[in-house]
Amino acid sequence: MKSGSGPFKGFPVEREEKKAENDFFKLLELKGISRRSFLKYCASTAALLGLSGLHAPMIAEAIEKMAKRPSVVWLCFMECLGCTESFANATYPEIDKLILEMISLEYHEALMAAAGERAHENLWNAVKEGGYLCIVEGAVATKIPSAMTVGGMTSIEIMEKVGRKAKAVIAVGTCATHGGTQGASPNPTGAVGIVEFFKTKSIATPVINLTGCPVNPENIISTVLHVLLLNKLPELDAYQRPLELYGQTIHDNCPRRAHFDEGRFVEVLGSKEESLGYCLYKVGCRGPQTYANCPKVLWNNRQNWCIGVAPCIGCFEPYFWDRFRDFYKPLPDVKLPGVTTSADKIGMGIAAATAAGVGAHLIGKALKGKKKEGDSEGEEKK
Ligand code: SF4
Ligand code: SF4
Repeated sequence: MKSGSGPFKGFPVEREEKKAENDFFKLLELKGISRRSFLKYCASTAALLGLSGLHAPMIAEAIEKMAKRPSVVWLCFMECLGCTESFANATYPEIDKLILEMISLEYHEALMAAAGERAHENLWNAVKEGGYLCIVEGAVATKIPSAMTVGGMTSIEIMEKVGRKAKAVIAVGTCATHGGTQGASPNPTGAVGIVEFFKTKSIATPVINLTGCPVNPENIISTVLHVLLLNKLPELDAYQRPLELYGQTIHDNCPRRAHFDEGRFVEVLGSKEESLGYCLYKVGCRGPQTYANCPKVLWNNRQNWCIGVAPCIGCFEPYFWDRFRDFYKPLPDVKLPGVTTSADKIGMGIAAATAAGVGAHLIGKALKGKKKEGDSEGEEKK
């Protein structure tokens, strides 16, 4: 098997290129997808990945040459399977579906038809071959290893073996990125995310964190495409999350934002003010300190999202179970330029800041959350 070159260097994708290209366009035809819509798709994929339109031909070429289906293994550890549900229940545009079909999902305990030893054989065969992309859902149990076993092996043993030989790991959901609910205080089993686990074992495989409880399926797709098509990691923030997807707060793009700026708040959930779209800050919204693209990509196939119906609980933020507890209480000590205020004073604080000539964008910047003090990983968010 020949290894790919250019953007695919390291992935076994470059075989009988011309034949692959013909086969690919035949496949498109069979699916009723025109070349024109395929090229449009490549341009929008480039935009989703934060790349300029100039990268569209490169993406097109990369997809055409996927002669050998890149292999992916999906591990499940301490979790609720909600991230799998989120991913499996989404509907995808035709071309996304086609690309998903081109990926060879070698192992996923919950989704694969095979069971027991047969299923495990697939996993260990993929590990033997190497070069796969590993997606992990769930935390690793480090203090009580027997709290998480699959087929007689602990999560520690499996993650170490599979992690070392993976091309890259994508940790999906807050359980896999930061321990999740089982990692919340007092964390009796020692549940940790993959980055922390890899540090204890000196595993150098690159990890991309996709926080969220559950993870947004659109974020999985765009990240998988980035890694497989461009053969490199996206630009990451201090928590190892793709900047393109996690670079702004919910508050930055919230449709209720104008009400926040004008000091119009919902005081009681279910009240008329809530249906009028007033700001949910006083009933506990964590949007000002939560870095996520939910307002842009929404949920349930872009139908709705949390703030459409309730305050954001900040599930895209690391350690949010502990850090944001008392979910219906307002975030304390929201900082405005030159003012430290509480929920009751916030409308006034904004009015004063505006009167002093401070623009709304500066207020938004000042409201961007700070990372929890004492977090073990990363620095302050850029
Ligand atoms: S991150 Fe949330 S939805 Fe995903 S597996 Fe963990 S608990 Fe379930
Ligand atoms: S506090 Fe919440 S509801 Fe209000 S504008 Fe910010 S993100 Fe939206």
